Amino acid sequence: MTTEQIYTLAMMQLALVILIASTRVAPPQSGVRSLRLFQLAMACDALSWFFYLWPIHPILLFCSSLAAATNFWLILAFALARCDLKVHWSLLWPMVVLQAGIYTQLNLNGMGYASLHFMTLVTACVTFPVAWLFWFKKPNRTVSDQGFALVMLSWFLICVLRTVTLEIHEDWILSGYLVSQVLWPGIMAAYGLFVITGYLEETQQRLRAEAVQDPLTGQLNRRGLNEAVAGCLNYLQRNQQPAALLMIDLDHFKRVNDQFGHEGGDLVLVQTAKAIKAMLRQSDVLARFGGEEFLIFLPSANRDMAQRTAERLLEGVRQLQWPASMPEDYQLTISIGVSVFGPDYDFARTLRLADQALYRAKQNGRDRIEFAGIAADY
Ligand code: GH3
Ligand code: MG
Ligand code: MG
Repeated sequence: MTTEQIYTLAMMQLALVILIASTRVAPPQSGVRSLRLFQLAMACDALSWFFYLWPIHPILLFCSSLAAATNFWLILAFALARCDLKVHWSLLWPMVVLQAGIYTQLNLNGMGYASLHFMTLVTACVTFPVAWLFWFKKPNRTVSDQGFALVMLSWFLICVLRTVTLEIHEDWILSGYLVSQVLWPGIMAAYGLFVITGYLEETQQRLRAEAVQDPLTGQLNRRGLNEAVAGCLNYLQRNQQPAALLMIDLDHFKRVNDQFGHEGGDLVLVQTAKAIKAMLRQSDVLARFGGEEFLIFLPSANRDMAQRTAERLLEGVRQLQWPASMPEDYQLTISIGVSVFGPDYDFARTLRLADQALYRAKQNGRDRIEFAGIAADY
């Protein structure tokens, strides 16, 4: 077995390992198509190396070139699909056939250098758009995506280096091959890995977001609120600034479900959360605390400011416009319990006090604000 054949077999294995590893990735439905295109590209790559074990035979050379060209343009198709863009197959397939035909012809006519120069040109046609797509167009771009874009540019640079060394001095042909053969496995391993970690990074981001978000209203859940409040509360305590909690419960919400069904109830919850959010400052933290209960953390708000915010919310919810599916005279009201943080900035205690205040608001007839005993006056 020649050194060339050993190298060829090693590359084939690398493509197969990346292909097998990529089957362990489980992207959301929207990412399945792009992953399949990448896997197909890897399979074609492995196949092209396999045929290249016997590059002297014209038919095998053409088969290898065809598989390599398919791999090339499938990477572009993969990048387009990854960016949710349309893949124009009618443009890609002619490029595949053209590339395979020209490459085979050049090699059969003993124009090895020309074929390598030609590949530099083709590489530019694929790697530049792919790098651009991943850097500028990819939704939810991750560090892996940036890594992938950089690897694509490195791939092109290596081809340019090979082209230049071949032209500068014929004796450097060896160094030209060296450039491609030493760096090639690294490039391939890098882009295979970045594709896989790109999908995994996206999944991590999604799970992290879902862990702190309420799926119905899109607002923070309890965990999200705890995370958001913890750091902020430390800062406020250090600077001796006030803060307040507003506990909100929708009035007679069971009736909403009874009258309009669970779906109608969900709609009211979503719209109310959206409206409350719109009435708050950017720095205020809103979370869905339970079924139809919301908690608001107001940083830097003393009792008066908390009262003004609560009054604004009470009035704002009363004035809400409901979709046509609801009766014209439908009006929602809320009850609010307000508690201002004491000098100990104890979240659990302030929450308990806000809850007790809310209970009193319900008992005193709903659609109102009640304040907890104030532990400290700011
Ligand atoms: P009150 O004024 O005393 O708060 O009366 P209420 O009817 O709102 O009473 P309560 O707070 O005990 O009832 C909450 C209801 O909210 C019960 C439950 O069916 C409903 N609920 C909780 N979560 C959801 C949800 O995600 N969607 C819908 N549609 N309803 C929910
Ligand atoms: Mg209620
Ligand atoms: Mg309730």
